[in-house]
Amino acid sequence: MRMKRLSTFVIAAALCLALPIQATAAKIVIDPGHGGSDPGAKGVNGIYETTVNHDIANKLKAELLQRGYEVVMTKEDAGLYMSLQDRVEKTKAAAADLFVSVHANAYPSSSAVKGSLILYYDNQYPQWSYPASAEMSTLTPENKKLAQSILDHLVAAAGTVNKGLVPSAAYVVRMGNIPSVLVETAFLTNWEDAGRLADDQARGTMAVGIANGIEAYLPSVFPDLAGHWARDAVLRVRDRNVIQGENNRYSPDRKLTRAEFITMMSRVFDFSKLPSIASSVNDSSTVTDATYTDKKTFADMKSSHWAASIMAEAIRLGIIDGYEDNTLRPDRAISRGEVAVIFDRFMSGMAGVNPENPVTPDLRKKLGYLYFTDVPYKLWSAQSINHLYELELIEGTDSGRYAPDQGMSRAEIAAVIDRYYSKQPSEAKQ
Ligand SMILES: [Zn+2]
Repeated sequence: MRMKRLSTFVIAAALCLALPIQATAAKIVIDPGHGGSDPGAKGVNGIYETTVNHDIANKLKAELLQRGYEVVMTKEDAGLYMSLQDRVEKTKAAAADLFVSVHANAYPSSSAVKGSLILYYDNQYPQWSYPASAEMSTLTPENKKLAQSILDHLVAAAGTVNKGLVPSAAYVVRMGNIPSVLVETAFLTNWEDAGRLADDQARGTMAVGIANGIEAYLPSVFPDLAGHWARDAVLRVRDRNVIQGENNRYSPDRKLTRAEFITMMSRVFDFSKLPSIASSVNDSSTVTDATYTDKKTFADMKSSHWAASIMAEAIRLGIIDGYEDNTLRPDRAISRGEVAVIFDRFMSGMAGVNPENPVTPDLRKKLGYLYFTDVPYKLWSAQSINHLYELELIEGTDSGRYAPDQGMSRAEIAAVIDRYYSKQPSEAKQ
């Protein structure tokens, strides 16, 4: 498949545009343990578990809402009884991301036992008479990570003793279909812990600790980045308003489209600061088969497309061309080679010069390629790929290839942009 390359760049005012955003935050189910006819454990100081659980749960809800999460409570009223089955059914119906049940512990045979612990389902420790749901039996690694994160942050915030993680077949952590934990905040049978649980401020601190643990495991924005290698880079670039998700999902492993890439570039590079790019690119020998077209309309570019205005602007400015069949293919994946060329040209425009290629034609013939075995010198994108590699903005595959014809994922472009920002002189001084 042959596409027309960029033709010219011209000076332009910064483009104002917005993607449609429907904020749908990560959704957390909070389940306050016990209630109604089942008050749970009774503290040495007379306080009942269900009272403590509901208060911490409500404080946790407020904390999570403040941090941008969506919250579903299995129940809000400590006076109401709710079966374990109903709690799990309500959780499933909520189509949430995480389930957190809030309890307080009791160990009647010794008042010395104190601290926080977390129950979670672990298929390394199955209880044969209490089989887990099919979904939960695959979620052990996530259950464990969530449990550890909440435990670490709870103990750090509340100052309780760390009693560790406990594999458990408790119904609410065993029968659901999302990562689930049961938090045992502290022991009502220990005087010190019971004092904490009876104290409004200490309960607030516990809620903050649990919220910290949830947030460290699953950020309220782009929850589909949990555990992803590019998470930090994506969040940094997001903070610069360069990238956005859809319905609060980033879809890091989806291929980057042409419309998405041009939109990102318009945010990274201030077009009004590119005075020399038009002349430098016109003279560039890398534009081997560019064919300028005056066509302003494209068969596949509807005015209702979310990127219609940015794409039209990019065409008007000569940043992109359409294909020979009069299509623009805004939703088609852009190749890694095309990304390198366009990115390189924007950078050279910012610097006011084209990247120098120090390799003589004789040496090119002799070497065949410089860094990547699948990027020979004759490849139209070779100079830009090699240049970006020298600047440590792009990486190859483990086998020493760049895969210039393959699509670039949305995670990969975020990493490239993040590296670009990290290498700006103004960034280094900070
Ligand atoms: Zn309980």
